[in-house]
Amino acid sequence: MNPCGLCGGGLEPLFEKFGHRIALCRACGTASVDPLPSPEDIRKVYTLDYFKGNRSKFGYTDYAAEAGCLARGFAARIEAIRSFVPKGRILDVGCANGSFLGAFGPEWDKHGVELSRELLEDSPPPTDVKVFVGDFLAYPAGPASFDVVTLFDVLDHVRDPKAVLDKAAALLRPGGLLAVQQGDRSSLFARLLGRRWHIYIPPTHLWYFSKAGLIRLLSERGLKTEREEYEPRWATFTLCLFRLSYILPSFLVDPFYRAVKGTWLGELGVRFNLRDVVTLYAVKS
Ligand SMILES: [Zn+2]
Repeated sequence: MNPCGLCGGGLEPLFEKFGHRIALCRACGTASVDPLPSPEDIRKVYTLDYFKGNRSKFGYTDYAAEAGCLARGFAARIEAIRSFVPKGRILDVGCANGSFLGAFGPEWDKHGVELSRELLEDSPPPTDVKVFVGDFLAYPAGPASFDVVTLFDVLDHVRDPKAVLDKAAALLRPGGLLAVQQGDRSSLFARLLGRRWHIYIPPTHLWYFSKAGLIRLLSERGLKTEREEYEPRWATFTLCLFRLSYILPSFLVDPFYRAVKGTWLGELGVRFNLRDVVTLYAVKS
């Protein structure tokens, strides 16, 4: 087996899922897909069907249809960010169609990075959001050039989370804010579900962090975690059923999923909080 890609510690196998081996590093408490897929195979995940209901990719049933629910989820994060930095230059890594940045007021200079050109062509970002299409590690920006950098559900999708964190930390000015949101494999819900936890979805998710492990990764880069939240999330009833099918046998979920998809019932927003997704707000010293 390969050494842990985060700390170099030894990996031990945890279980197999969807034809991939998930292995745990006892040294840092992070689990990962071993071996990691190639960059080319990772890129293939994020074509338009990822956002439009390809169930083998575990993305979205219809990203555009989630707009209302996503906006409700954004409010708490925007409030938290503004409590640290009231305005300035913000970078959202993995910004999708820029709807999160679009929810910030005109006092913000808004920048995003997104890998999926297809998504942006299908669903263009707001006019005041500048989006770089490509790999974040190739994003041309000067050191200390942002007041806020956000990594929402990004680190578990990339081959090299260390490199992404190094770059995010370097782009922040001293006193700037890094906001990171990730599934927490040390949460009660994740531990209860074990391998059935809906966030264990290789090869879409490649890394499975614990809250303590994430805080340590930030602290190693001079980022002091000052606020931790398990924020409620919103999703359409259709997306809830789509995600439930990762946990329950499909014959139990599929009839309901097919019945509500495309109906008013399927578009209803559902608020939920399994307390298994943690958001950390960390300040650069
Ligand atoms: Zn490790």
